[in-house]
Amino acid sequence: MSSADCIFCKIARNEIPSKKVYEDEDLFAFHDIRPQAAVHFLSVPKQHVASLLDVDASHAALLGKIFTRIGQLARDQGCGEGFRTIVNTGKVGGQEVYHLHVHVIGGSTPLPAMIKW
Ligand code: 5GP
Ligand code: ZN
Repeated sequence: MSSADCIFCKIARNEIPSKKVYEDEDLFAFHDIRPQAAVHFLSVPKQHVASLLDVDASHAALLGKIFTRIGQLARDQGCGEGFRTIVNTGKVGGQEVYHLHVHVIGGSTPLPAMIKW
């Protein structure tokens, strides 16, 4: 999918509304439209990268930015005691939106088991 049709690229361009919790020149974060817990937001690079299967060394600094920022964003959302990050990848991983994003989930104590079979 091209970035023109990508829903998260549209959110990045403010063509689709979202409840943003953070934005800078490289990344943005917004509340998930179908939250799975009291706190559930997505941390997303502005650059269109489809999934972790498409990441290479050229994305290292961008991934570093996303992960160095997440702790503070989670704390700001009331998750100072901890949270879970999930990156669904591809068909097997249950990825729905093919623009790389990190789910940040928390606000419930404790979170349910990591994988439910
Ligand atoms: P995935 O399964 O790809 O890891 O997760 C995609 C997530 O994006 C889902 O949790 C879904 O609820 C969320 N999502 C899909 N479309 C929108 C939207 O238009 N706005 C927001 N805020 N979240 C969305
Ligand atoms: Zn995109």
